[in-house]
Amino acid sequence: MNVIIVGGGIAGLSAALGLRRAGHHVRIFERSSFLREVGAAINVCPNASRILLQWGFDTKRARLVAARRSVVAPGSSLKTLVDVDCSQFPSVYGASFFFAHRVDLHTELQRLATGSGPGSPVEISLRSEVVNYAADQSSVTLSDGSVHHADLIVAADGVHTTAIHQVIGHAVPAVSTGSAAFRFLIPSDVLRKDSDIAPLLEDGALRVLVAEDRRRLVWYPCADNTVQNFVGIHTDLASDGAEKEDWDRDATVDDLLTHYHDFHPTIIRILKKATSIKRWPLLYRDPIPTWTRGRLVLIGDAAHPMLPHQGQAGAQAIEDAGALSELFTFAEQTSTTQQEIQSRLWLFEQVRVNRASAMQVFSNAGQDESWKIKEQAKKYLPEGVEVPRSPAEFMRHNFGYDVIDDAREVLGGYLRRGGEEVDI
Ligand SMILES: Cc1cc2nc3c(=O)[nH]c(=O)nc-3n(C[C@H](O)[C@H](O)[C@H](O)COP(=O)(O)OP(=O)(O)OC[C@H]3O[C@@H](n4cnc5c(N)ncnc54)[C@H](O)[C@@H]3O)c2cc1C
Repeated sequence: MNVIIVGGGIAGLSAALGLRRAGHHVRIFERSSFLREVGAAINVCPNASRILLQWGFDTKRARLVAARRSVVAPGSSLKTLVDVDCSQFPSVYGASFFFAHRVDLHTELQRLATGSGPGSPVEISLRSEVVNYAADQSSVTLSDGSVHHADLIVAADGVHTTAIHQVIGHAVPAVSTGSAAFRFLIPSDVLRKDSDIAPLLEDGALRVLVAEDRRRLVWYPCADNTVQNFVGIHTDLASDGAEKEDWDRDATVDDLLTHYHDFHPTIIRILKKATSIKRWPLLYRDPIPTWTRGRLVLIGDAAHPMLPHQGQAGAQAIEDAGALSELFTFAEQTSTTQQEIQSRLWLFEQVRVNRASAMQVFSNAGQDESWKIKEQAKKYLPEGVEVPRSPAEFMRHNFGYDVIDDAREVLGGYLRRGGEEVDI
């Protein structure tokens, strides 16, 4: 198959890698020059790292940090409320829970997609903006007017996707949650020099520091533990629905202190050392019932943008890639007709839509606030599966799932039925 992927973010690059490994020719159209990748960290949870490891992802080269423990504590006292040991995750979940610097993750995905390895290297066309999708013709139009056809079009163009109009028939704007997140990185050496802060520095430790009014400060290391990443979620009435999701707005130390003034004095000392602080308005989009039309499919944030509370946004994009790779692995005798491709996309929706929709809903609350999302989440969970109630239960639910196994089972059933006609 010839595949066009629109967008070279984590979703697009992972899908390109997975589809290349399945034997397809992949071309990515990316509107930026890749120079805009913003420095911040992201969780690579075991449900995603398990897939990347199978695909040869080099965690050392990408300077990933394996989580050792995950702690919840009040920001004011720092007295531990919950302490989950993550060091055994490789034996429990088949892979570690990693923390990555976004640039490192992106660079390693790009190396795997374009370098030597199974299948043909992915071609990446930078400064190539897609201005139109034509699902019925299975084509895209670039801003220079050129039209490109493929057997499969994957829209991995992020939360502001324009492909969603083709799939749903109308725009589905993200709405305000009334919250925003501060984001900043501080070199570990800077913190280690402060004798009050140094004892709190711990390799592989994730800390969620909580307070009333939905405030929380999430702190974890990345880049071989040389950099500490902070995400400060807070109520922010300026985050009205008129704001566009933007990861790159500036904020100040005074903004941090206004929101976290009652936190422990050591945390205040840390906040005072922050530089290059960004403010990210947290917008929410309801799950959408379908991600495909014809041979066009949405993945990643284009299909299921989510808030950072579960740390699953990147992981869900990688699960999409895992499912695509598995479901589009064809036996030699299979002819890749238009009907066959649409059938495989239908299978993709069976595997992905409910799983990612549940994660979207889970992500509207902290792992200690399950009651807030219980009713809405239920409808996306398989029968007999309960909504998790604690951080440990969320981890089991989120990390224990294996999308490759699931996709294999769904594809196996379909093939055993002789590739029966499916409802498209
Ligand atoms: C700067 C940044 C910081 C983030 N930080 C966090 C975080 O801390 N925690 C978290 O959980 N999630 C975070 N996210 C979200 C998380 O990274 C995503 O959920 C996940 O990586 C999947 O992203 P994606 O590839 O679907 O979309 P994106 O990362 O948004 O990538 C979309 C890509 O498509 C390209 N594109 C868009 N439109 C077009 C077009 N018309 N033509 C061609 N190319 C196009 C864009 O340039 C971009 O490269 C962040 C995202 C960004 C961009």
